[in-house]
Amino acid sequence: MKVYINGKFYEKKQAKISVFDHGLLYGDGIFEGIRSYNRLVFKLKEHIERLFESAQSIVLTIPLNKQQMIEAVIKTLKINKIDNGYVRLIVTRGEGDLGLNPYKCEGNASVIIITDKIALYPDKLYKSGLKLITVPTIRNHPEALNPQVKSLNYLNNILAKIEAINAGFQEAIMLDALGYIAECSGDNIFLVKDNQLYTPPQCMGTLRGITRDIVLEIVRDLKIPAHEHVLTRHELYIADEVFLTGTAAELVPVVSVDGRTIGKGKPGKMLSMLRQEFRKRTRIEGIRY
Ligand SMILES: *Cc1c(COP(=O)(O)O)cnc(C)c1O
Repeated sequence: MKVYINGKFYEKKQAKISVFDHGLLYGDGIFEGIRSYNRLVFKLKEHIERLFESAQSIVLTIPLNKQQMIEAVIKTLKINKIDNGYVRLIVTRGEGDLGLNPYKCEGNASVIIITDKIALYPDKLYKSGLKLITVPTIRNHPEALNPQVKSLNYLNNILAKIEAINAGFQEAIMLDALGYIAECSGDNIFLVKDNQLYTPPQCMGTLRGITRDIVLEIVRDLKIPAHEHVLTRHELYIADEVFLTGTAAELVPVVSVDGRTIGKGKPGKMLSMLRQEFRKRTRIEGIRY
């Protein structure tokens, strides 16, 4: 497996960057997780668009333009002969000194592209469903570090994950600073109630996930009512179905929240229908290589 770093390809063992890179020293950088299905990079333009928005927000100059970035992702997939895979696209602030000042890293931003073949979640998870627990760590306040920035500084999410695992659960529900449902440690959350779909709005602690957008697009096309609405834990507890969305996980059923069984305690009908529609789109949308 070859790794792209700043225009060159390196074997896995040789793929290294400086210990003075602020991506390492401060989590100062951004990333995207992207999937390819049968030589089609799913929603690549949308991922590149979001990457550039993250960069703009943290005053990071990406050394490639959007088209060059798309080409770099495709080249990395081709060189590694990956037809179905996962792409991790990273842009770090680059090498600087030990101080915080990002302007001292100017011109050193690193673009790193790692690809892999693995399906990231085991099949049985989609059959049995996840059990979630609400954790004490809240999602970053949008005026501290806005969750719309897909930042390398992921400690907020990692703390939530630790709290869930230590409590014996697979995944965490994070609340926002107002106490409403934000999202999970790396996935967005949806609920179904009376054949309508609900998901938290992006304004407080929720990243506007690309998979989330696809689900909203699907239900709009099918004329199923969908709402981006503030949600409390209570609404999750009394939902007919709950599921998570993310590029790596796709759409994953949730069968229990804070010890309350959701619906019939197994993956629901709406989710099964949405997953079929999602599959269809992975076959036709994106950039072919
Ligand atoms: C990436 C990410 C998601 C999911 O977004 P997708 O674009 O669907 O992959 C959700 N929450 C967080 C915190 C994320 O980093």
